[in-house]
Amino acid sequence: MRPINAIAILPLCLTAVGAASTLFRGGTVVAFNKQTQGLNVIRGGSVLITNDRITGVFTSAPSKVPAGTEIVDITGKIITPGFIDTHRHGWQTAFKTIASNTTLIEFFGRYSSFVAPFFWNATDVYDSQLAGLYEALNAGVTSSLDHATHTWSKDASSAGLQACIDSGARVFWGFTFANITGLVTVEDLYPVIREMAKKPGLRNSPTTLGIAYDGWGPNPNVAEINKIMALAKELNVSVITTHSLQGPWGFNNSPEDIHALNYLNISTPIVFSHASFLTPAGAALLRSTNQYISITPESEMHYGQTHPVSYNIQDQASLGIDTHITFSTDILTQARIWLQQTRYERYLDVLEQSKLPRSNPMSAEQAFLLATRHGGLALRRPDLGIIAEGAKADLVIWDGNSPALLGWVDPVAAVILHASVGDIEAVLVDGKWVKRGGKLVAKGWPDARANFLRTAKRLQAIWRDMPMPEPPAEFNGVPVVSPVQADVLRGPGNGYGNVYI
Ligand SMILES: [Zn+2]
Repeated sequence: MRPINAIAILPLCLTAVGAASTLFRGGTVVAFNKQTQGLNVIRGGSVLITNDRITGVFTSAPSKVPAGTEIVDITGKIITPGFIDTHRHGWQTAFKTIASNTTLIEFFGRYSSFVAPFFWNATDVYDSQLAGLYEALNAGVTSSLDHATHTWSKDASSAGLQACIDSGARVFWGFTFANITGLVTVEDLYPVIREMAKKPGLRNSPTTLGIAYDGWGPNPNVAEINKIMALAKELNVSVITTHSLQGPWGFNNSPEDIHALNYLNISTPIVFSHASFLTPAGAALLRSTNQYISITPESEMHYGQTHPVSYNIQDQASLGIDTHITFSTDILTQARIWLQQTRYERYLDVLEQSKLPRSNPMSAEQAFLLATRHGGLALRRPDLGIIAEGAKADLVIWDGNSPALLGWVDPVAAVILHASVGDIEAVLVDGKWVKRGGKLVAKGWPDARANFLRTAKRLQAIWRDMPMPEPPAEFNGVPVVSPVQADVLRGPGNGYGNVYI
């Protein structure tokens, strides 16, 4: 990296008074082709950003750049859009690694917002949310839709939102309306979200206000929903999100539920997390109203939400992470798991007919688009998740000479199938560097790290001493039974072992 000599470029200057420009020169650009709606790989290409936007994508180094442009040589490197995570519970970071073998029912009863608020204070929420966002930024996740279940009080809401603003990440912060027995009612939260909408610093940050709500059905409280949707309109929220499972899990929040209340076909994006048991009618509604689901591959495997029909709705799907306390926080891993899971399932269809597959059912490019562009589509932000003129300057630069990538030819395959977070050299959000030279450079990171360690230690000690609950015999009226356990030991015993906390 070397700044261009200001005198040398003077005769070539375009006018851009007061603008901050950076030119990434000479790398492999994974750009977006608006005509084909697919990727356009440019070798030896350049990307110019001005303030928060991409203002030029070039097949070679441009002869003219604005005065004062910083030139960054990316020869041998790959530049891609930042990843977009459309489902996350960011505040929970302090629980990391203490719930490695948890079930979903155990999660609800032990780690969810129905339990945690009785032990967490607002500072804990701030520290935990901020550390989680730095973890995501480090992994190239520049945008996330946060189903922010930490809005159980004004202080906790304010702390989590402030952490989003302070992180510099692009967070679609979904203020959650939920009744928590013994603590808060939805009614209490109406004035809180209004106050959050006025938070200083929100307007000038990449973070926006959204709404998360899981009460659409069955048996919805229609008066409550009407009030929440009126607030969504009044506050012009950027997104609405809901946990949608159906099937044996029993909590619906299906497209049909929302459509029945006349709220599906609206200008605000509605993101359905999981949608594991989406019906054909629900899929048709998503397509006709252009609403999206968030497939969270690792979560749906870890907890058993599963995704038996999600393969059929990938044209209206994006990718999410969910509880990053129990597994990867990077969308790259989600894209890879999902790609191979889709291949596995589609191959199995053929093998079960005693036949052999003659083509590969899903491509690396399709996985790349789900991890980037489709997140932008789910959020109705076509300026996110792509490298194209006019798009937001949310970018990731990959070290093409790392041991994992050395020898790459196809940059999409290199990223989707070979790279890891360790190969991410730089990350920018809104044109601002948050990671550079392989390290987080966001100015809040050193303090955030120290504060988070204190918070995590205190909270983890509380949970370590908390007795594990017995699984219930039923959940939402459905019997709860044990799956077949893996056995990794020869002879007696199965090697299940312990958690080491
Ligand atoms: Zn979730």
